[in-house]
Amino acid sequence: RHHEGHFTALPNSSIPSPRVALITGAGQGIGRAIALRLARDGYHTALDDMPSNKTALEETAELVRKRHSRNAITIYIDVSKEDQVGEMIDRTVRELGGLDVMVANAGVALLEPFIDSSMSVWEKTMNVNVFGIMLCYKHAARAMIAQGRGGRLIAACSIAGKRGDPDSAAYCASKFAVRGLSQSAAIELAPHGINVNCYAPGAIHTNLLDEVDKKYTAEEGEPVGSYIKKRAEGIPAGRVGTPEDVAGVVSWLASEDSKFVTGQAITVDGGTLFD
Ligand code: ADP
Repeated sequence: RHHEGHFTALPNSSIPSPRVALITGAGQGIGRAIALRLARDGYHTALDDMPSNKTALEETAELVRKRHSRNAITIYIDVSKEDQVGEMIDRTVRELGGLDVMVANAGVALLEPFIDSSMSVWEKTMNVNVFGIMLCYKHAARAMIAQGRGGRLIAACSIAGKRGDPDSAAYCASKFAVRGLSQSAAIELAPHGINVNCYAPGAIHTNLLDEVDKKYTAEEGEPVGSYIKKRAEGIPAGRVGTPEDVAGVVSWLASEDSKFVTGQAITVDGGTLFD
């Protein structure tokens, strides 16, 4: 199935506009918002999540089809397994006719005090947040090079990839690693017209933040929502971000307009952190 005609090449551009986007961790939150935004931008989408997240991912796919009339295929693989990532890329190219934008969004955030650091938390964090992104980049880049029309590799970083956070040593280390591997890949892939950039969100209002809020407010005996309110007070913009705030930045990183930007991690945090 090829889908010619949805995109027109820009005048004077030797690279046709991107057409197919693959988003991992697209079941909910930031990943779902990215999938819906890229579908709105005109991309057909391949959507990945863990098999345990099937209901949510199928819902994202339905939203892509109904709201934006774009194709959506769903793929259930673990991004930390190389053979599975290879299969995910092959299936995307086979069923959607190519791959132009890889958004390696899947990740885990496991918290523990540093002096209680456990190998299981560190291994899980590194497997998904570092090896998962490396594998998605590697196999997507190979497909893009074979295709010969450039592309975009985009990954989830965090403001925790730019400065330390309490109870987050493994998470911070993994997000710093994402920046390093992205910068290195950016240099090697630039001659192929493939740009490699990350988005680095601060506090974003997702289910995860609601859960943290619930836990915190229960422990402190405060009304629900007060943790989120407190977070918002520390942000110059006066609010926590939305998944759509992040998706807008990803939309730009995926676009032609970002073609001279590579190796960057764009902070999306309402003015909290300057680097
Ligand atoms: P956010 O707040 O960034 O939206 P989530 O935890 O909701 O955070 O999103 C991370 C996504 O990544 C989830 O949908 C989760 O199922 C997915 N994910 C986590 N680990 C893996 C993995 N090994 N392979 C594929 N997807 C994964």
